[in-house]
Amino acid sequence: DQELSNVDPEVSEIIYNEKQRQFRSLELIASENFTSRAVMEAVGSCLTNKYSEGLPGKRYYGGNEHIDELETLCQKRALAAFHLDENKWGVNVQPLSGSPANFEVYTAILKPHDRIMGLDLPHGGHLSHGFMTPKRRVSGTSIYFESMPYRLDESTGLVDYDMLEKTATLFRPKLIIAGASAYPRDFDYPRMRKIADAVGAFLMMDMAHISGLVAASVVGNPFEYCDIVTTTTHKSLRGPRGGMILFKKDPVLGVELESAINNAVFPGLQGGPHNHTIGGLAVCLKHAQSPEFKAYQNQVVSNWSDNHLVLVDLRPLSLDGARVEKILDLASITLNKNSVPGDKSALVPGGIRIGSPAMTTRGFTEKEFIYIADFIHEGVQLTREVKQAVSGSKLQDFMKFVASSDFSFTDKVSD
Ligand code: PLP
Repeated sequence: DQELSNVDPEVSEIIYNEKQRQFRSLELIASENFTSRAVMEAVGSCLTNKYSEGLPGKRYYGGNEHIDELETLCQKRALAAFHLDENKWGVNVQPLSGSPANFEVYTAILKPHDRIMGLDLPHGGHLSHGFMTPKRRVSGTSIYFESMPYRLDESTGLVDYDMLEKTATLFRPKLIIAGASAYPRDFDYPRMRKIADAVGAFLMMDMAHISGLVAASVVGNPFEYCDIVTTTTHKSLRGPRGGMILFKKDPVLGVELESAINNAVFPGLQGGPHNHTIGGLAVCLKHAQSPEFKAYQNQVVSNWSDNHLVLVDLRPLSLDGARVEKILDLASITLNKNSVPGDKSALVPGGIRIGSPAMTTRGFTEKEFIYIADFIHEGVQLTREVKQAVSGSKLQDFMKFVASSDFSFTDKVSD
């Protein structure tokens, strides 16, 4: 009688309905996945009851002998999963999620108003890499640091490394950030390393989207070139919702990254670690070293592009991403509207982002992804028909009004 369905039928029903939704839809959001039953068991365990501020062996609370063992195991597995030498690389597994992990790195190595360069959000970057608009400093990263985003070459869709180099030479950032939320290609780490070295900047990779692919060595290895690598743990890595920071043990630009990063996490920006998440992460990182995981990641890439996602530019069809997202949602195909390079306004993204990790977890291969592409195509055609039917009506004026209101803005960024 202590079961959730008895104690709180309301919440229990919501969870049931969400489970049904996840089960019956085609889940194509590039940042989502289905974690395993074993990970969920650890996340739903008694580990959530324990306070353990500090690091293994150095806690501010008693009773942490098992938590110390767990966190140490998780750290070891993290380094092993990414093929790192424990003498050269360290890891902090306590970040609560990807955005806090990034801000913890900035807090560790930068002073307020130091300069940073990350990929611009409308070109595929993440909010936490310094996003701002001409009118507003949107992300905390752009409020506390001076941000000058780099961008893609719109003719190729690839990062414009020449422009990054030129801008970095003038702007002289203290930190250059590789990594993205909506970039279907790999990063040129050797080139970015060269640029960072030339201007005396740290080089960080936020591999949140592709960390599973990195662990399985099916994309380039950021650890060969970067000083710091951050990640979420719930996307292609297929773990619980959380974050990690991996850092070089040798000092970089005179900074001891290990102590600076550990102190930025706690006591800098966080309190007690979420031990239930660390438990789930340890389970995920064990799996990440298995042959099945490598086969899964190979399939993720085979099902799509150079990595786990594609961006579809809808503008040649005079459509925008929001309309297509809506129509596909009605058919239980879940993906998200996304800006594409060259969009006139971030308010009306001209494309959609489609990812392969979640449906690959459910056993889909190239054959099923061809069906998915056909379904999406049908949805796009249907959206055109709906748009034509609505054209010239009062509804269209109203939709224009909604699309132009500032209120709708926060809805339009990728995660
Ligand atoms: N970094 C990248 C590249 C992301 O795509 C995301 C989120 O999707 C994050 C960081 C932030 O992660 P979180 O949503 O866990 O804060």
